[in-house]
Amino acid sequence: TTGLMAGKRGLIMGLANDKSIAWGIAKACADAGAELALTYQGDAFRKRVVPLAEQLGVTQLADCDVSDDASVDAVFAQLEQAWGSLDFIVHAIGFSDKNELRGRYVDTSRGNFTMTMDISVYSFTSVMQRAEKLMKNGGSALTLTYLGAERVMPHYNVMGVAKAALEASVRYLAEDLGKDGIRVNAISAGPIKTLAASGIGDFRYILKWNEMNSPLRRNVTIHDVGKSALYLLSDLGSGVTGELHHVDAGYHMVGMKAVDAPDI
Ligand code: NAD
Repeated sequence: TTGLMAGKRGLIMGLANDKSIAWGIAKACADAGAELALTYQGDAFRKRVVPLAEQLGVTQLADCDVSDDASVDAVFAQLEQAWGSLDFIVHAIGFSDKNELRGRYVDTSRGNFTMTMDISVYSFTSVMQRAEKLMKNGGSALTLTYLGAERVMPHYNVMGVAKAALEASVRYLAEDLGKDGIRVNAISAGPIKTLAASGIGDFRYILKWNEMNSPLRRNVTIHDVGKSALYLLSDLGSGVTGELHHVDAGYHMVGMKAVDAPDI
């Protein structure tokens, strides 16, 4: 992939640490020659993110809370000034109260429902409003979702409802921005042990289940996601928009494994 992203500038939002899906994608893009801007949320993450940014030669690093319009505006103002244009953007952000990522969906509170939708869904639309203006030569945008949007998964609850809305917004954004040559896609990643995932009830069991029942008999890594992201973000994905691409070792399409499957 050397040189695949040469001359391209991209913003990657949602880096918390070296376990983040955003990190897998950032590394893949940087290795392919892209110039990157990174955002993280709040001072607490700064000391972890700075050395990672340095490792990739990142020049634009900003604190951004997507629930605050002024904070999002500031990031795009910084990029407008530093770069004047943008070729790609990655939205790897989601949040919900972990007390509601266990037990029953029916018990979701109004406050957490609204907050989860705001941070995990609206934020993608909000950043695309700003990115559109900077993507003067067209562009590619990517967000991250999970199978819990399409099917009921244990403990995923309100996050599943939010991801369903996020996936629908990918399609609406793809139509609105397609005329300007901006492609909008989502990767539906299999379970990966990250900070965000650690808030989900029984997450270790979910990992084990996916490993045992996926066609590849393994879980995916942030680098598997990074490589598929590279396809969607680069010219290799030039004809693809509004797409939901599963990077989950094939788990999403399995109905049931055979009783005599050798490994059960
Ligand atoms: P992560 O904890 O590394 O990343 C989540 C990021 O969201 C963090 O950087 C956090 O700071 C950021 N964030 C939360 N609230 C924010 C706010 N108000 N403003 C700005 N940033 C905010 O975990 P991850 O698993 O890499 O998550 C990235 C994306 O991938 C999320 O959308 C998640 O739902 C999705 N995803 C994760 C998995 C998985 O199993 N880990 C599977 C499928 C999809």
